[in-house]
Amino acid sequence: MNFSQLLVDKINAIVKNWVEAVRLDRQISSADDLTHSAIRDHIPDVLKAMATVLSQSQDSDLQSIVHNSWEHGVLRASQGFAPTEIAREYRLLRQVIFSTLEADLLLGTVREVMRVYGAIDATIDEAIAQCFKSYVDERLQEIQQLQSQAELTNQELTRLLKANQDNVSQLAHELKNPLNSIIGYSELILRSSSKNPEVQDTVPHLEHIERVVRNGRQLLRLINDTLEISRYEAGKMHLNPVATDVRSLIDDVFKMLEPLANTKELELRVDCDRAPKEVVTDSLRLQQIVTNLLSNAIRYTESGTVRLTCEILSDKQWSIAVTDTGIGIAPEDHLRIFEPFFRAGNSDTPVPDSTGLGLAIVSQLVKLMQGKIELVSQVAAGSTFTIILPLEVKTPALQTSST
Ligand code: ADP
Repeated sequence: MNFSQLLVDKINAIVKNWVEAVRLDRQISSADDLTHSAIRDHIPDVLKAMATVLSQSQDSDLQSIVHNSWEHGVLRASQGFAPTEIAREYRLLRQVIFSTLEADLLLGTVREVMRVYGAIDATIDEAIAQCFKSYVDERLQEIQQLQSQAELTNQELTRLLKANQDNVSQLAHELKNPLNSIIGYSELILRSSSKNPEVQDTVPHLEHIERVVRNGRQLLRLINDTLEISRYEAGKMHLNPVATDVRSLIDDVFKMLEPLANTKELELRVDCDRAPKEVVTDSLRLQQIVTNLLSNAIRYTESGTVRLTCEILSDKQWSIAVTDTGIGIAPEDHLRIFEPFFRAGNSDTPVPDSTGLGLAIVSQLVKLMQGKIELVSQVAAGSTFTIILPLEVKTPALQTSST
C-alpha cells in the first residue's frame, strides 16, 4: 500500500481535524482568538514533507521539515504560545494523523505499519525539536531587547534624577540670596527702631516686620535643609573626621539650647560620666545631629525633663541617647519620621519651625558616619532617640561617595 500517497490525499482532512482539536483543547488558550489559517500555519507543508519520508521512491524532504517547523516556532512565539501549549499541539497532531490513517493502516502488513509509525514519529519529533529551537531563539531575542530597553530607561532616569538634583540645588541657591537680603533688611529696620523711638513711631507695622523675619528664617532653614538632603542624595556630602572632644561639644549644644528649654521650664540634664574622652568623627556633623535631637526633644515636650546620656559601649562603639517626657510617637510612625517632610500627627497644636527634614538629615548623617539610630517611644509618655557610632569613623566610605 502507498502510505505516502494516502497521507497526501488526507492532508486537508488531517489539518481540518487538527485545527479543530487545537481549538477545543482548553489547555491551549493562546489559540482561542486565532483564525483557522493562523493556527494551521506551515503544518500542511510539514505533512507534505512527511509524505516524502514515508515514500519509498522519493528522496525524503528533510530540509522542508526543518525549515517549516522553524518558521512555526517563530510564529508561535509571536502569537504568545507557552512551551507547554506547543508540546500539546504536536501531541494532538500525532493523534490526529494516526486516527485519520488508522483504518488504512489496519490493512497493511505488520512490517509496513511499523515503518510508517516509526517514520511519522521521527518526523514529528524532528518538527518539535526545530520548532522549540526557533521558539527559544525568538524569546531570547525578546528578552535581550527588553534588557537593552531597561538599560536605556535606567540611564535616562539616572540622567533625569541628576538633572533634577542639580535644579533643586540651583533653585535653592537662587532663593537664598534674596531671602537673606529680606531678612537682613528687616532686621536692620527692627534694630534701628528699637534704638530710636521716633523711628518706631514712623514704622506702622513693626510686628509685621517681625513676622517677616521669623518666616524668613524658617524659609531659610527649609532651603538649607532641602539643600543638605539633595547633596546627600547626590552623594556629594563628605565627612571630615578629626579628633573630637565629645563632652565639650555636648556642652556647647546645651548652652545654645538652654534658653529654649528655659522658656518652657523644662529640666535639662546631661550624663556624660561614661562618655569617651575623645572620638574621631566629623565634629560639625556630630554637633548637627545632637542639636537636631535635643531641639526636637525640647520642641515636642511640654513639661518634664530632657536628658542626654553619652557612654562608651565597647572598644569600637559609643552612643548618645536623648530622652524626653514629651508627646511621644505612635508605633506606626516610628520608621516614617525619618522620611523627608514627614510630620507625625500626634500634636494637637502645630509645632513652630517644623519642616519635617531634621530627622531625615540626622538619619542620613548617622548612616554616613557608619552608625545607626534607634527609637523607643510611647505616646504621651516620651521618646528616646539613641545613636550608636564608631569611636573612629573610617574614611574609605567617604572616598567612594565622593567619586
Ligand atoms: P520637624 O521636627 O522639623 O517636623 P523632624 O524630621 O525633626 O522634623 O521630625 C519629624 C517628625 O517626627 C516631627 O514632625 C514630629 O512629629 C516627630 N518627632 C521628632 N522628634 C520627636 C520627639 N522627640 N517627640 C515626639 N515627636 C517627635
